[in-house]
This record gives sequence, structure tokens and C-alpha cells, in this order.
Amino acid sequence: MVSGNLSSAPIGILGGTFDPIHFGHLRLAEEMLELANLRQIRFIPTGTPPHRAAPKTPALHRSAMVQLAIASQPAFVLDEREVERAAPCYTVDTLRELRAELGAAQPLCLLMGGDAFLQLHTWHEWEQLFELAHIVVGYRPGFTLEERIHTATSELRQHYQQRLCSVDALSQQSCGGITELAIPKLEISATDIRRRVAEGRTIRYLLPSAVANYIHQHHLYQPC
Ligand code: ATP
Repeated sequence: MVSGNLSSAPIGILGGTFDPIHFGHLRLAEEMLELANLRQIRFIPTGTPPHRAAPKTPALHRSAMVQLAIASQPAFVLDEREVERAAPCYTVDTLRELRAELGAAQPLCLLMGGDAFLQLHTWHEWEQLFELAHIVVGYRPGFTLEERIHTATSELRQHYQQRLCSVDALSQQSCGGITELAIPKLEISATDIRRRVAEGRTIRYLLPSAVANYIHQHHLYQPC
């Protein structure tokens, strides 16, 4: 872990299938940008996930929809490194690449929800993640991680207890901290949006209109 003399505000990393990106993702990112004082958030659409079936929608479309959705927020950046990789990719490898490009001193924050965090011990080389980035966990107000951490494995619980830090600490060290942020979760999911499109129902106000137009123009999510 590198500490001291860090001048740069942290960069956030938000991975997802984004099939399609919607206002749930965008509000999560906007809240985290503000609450964690991030200078940028990189949206990284997943390529071929090692443990799950690949997203049905080609990466070309998922990336294009992210680009349309974030166009008006200069702090949001599309990062296509995972979809450009042919082999299955693990988050730890993506973070290693980013760390090599951005330098040892740049604070990096891996952004995720509380449910994902409680499963962190199942991720490939999960303990290495703390050597590469902070983890910023968003939880619904009223459902704190602290209340649910007893459901985690003892190893994960130990990391949580030792690494819990304030938002200010995220810019003072380059990696290794865990911060929790209370973020209201919008009841929007990509699964529901895909189902609505397949059924010919409206998706207005669930995602940016440019993304809704893209879905209709390219006939995405039509029933087989
Ligand atoms: P699907 O319904 O296909 O599983 P999803 O809508 O959950 O997709 P992903 O692309 O898998 O979207 O999610 C990327 C990240 O965004 C994850 O960390 C997930 O927890 C978070 N996320 C998804 N939907 C919301 C939401 N409505 N509010 C806050 N965070 C969300």
C-alpha cells in the first residue's frame, strides 16, 4: 500500500454487464462520485465472465449504450478493456492493468453493492483486490453492512474489521481500505427492462432516452 503525498482524488471503477445500462447504475455512480469525492468513474462492461454465461447482447451494443448514457457527465468514462479481451477476465486482472497504467500512487476504488461484497470471498484471488484498490460498498439506507457482516466468512469479516475507513482516507492511501456509503437503490433492473422490451411494454423513465432509442433502433431484446 502506498501512502502519503497523494495529490490525486480517487478514481472509481464500476463493472457490470450493462445489458442495458439504466438509471439505477447511473444514480449509483453519481452518488458515489459525490460522496466518495471521486474524480472519475470508469464504467467497465464485462466481457466473458469466468463463472457465468456471457451476456447475450454483443459487447458492441452494451458499450455503445454506456457511451450514450454517460455522454453528458464528463467525470464518467467508458473503459472497454474487458470486452476487447477474448479470454475470460477476472476483476483482479483488470485492476492489475489499471494499476500498471495509472501508477502506484493513484487511489483506486472498486465500487460495488453490499450483496456483492458479502460474496467477495468467491472472487478469483479476492484478497489481492485489497492490494490493488479500496472497496467502496453502497448499501440501502437502513440495511448497513455492519448489521449483515456476520453472514460473511470469518476471513472476509476480518478484512472488513481491519480495513474499515473514512471517506477521507480513500485519498490518503492508494488501496486497501473499505468504506460504506448509504445510497438509495432505485427499483430498476436490466432483467426487467429486457423483459419489458420483449413484451412490447414501455421502458420510458427507466433509462436515458438515448439508450431507449438505441434499443429500439437496433431491435435489441426482441423475443426469439
Ligand atoms: P441484471 O438484471 O441483468 O442482473 P443489473 O441491472 O443488476 O443487471 P449489472 O450490469 O449486473 O446490472 O450491475 C452492475 C452494478 O450495478 C452491480 O454492482 C449492481 O449491484 C449495480 N446495480 C444494478 N442495478 C442497480 C440499482 N437499481 N441501483 C443500484 N445499483 C445497481
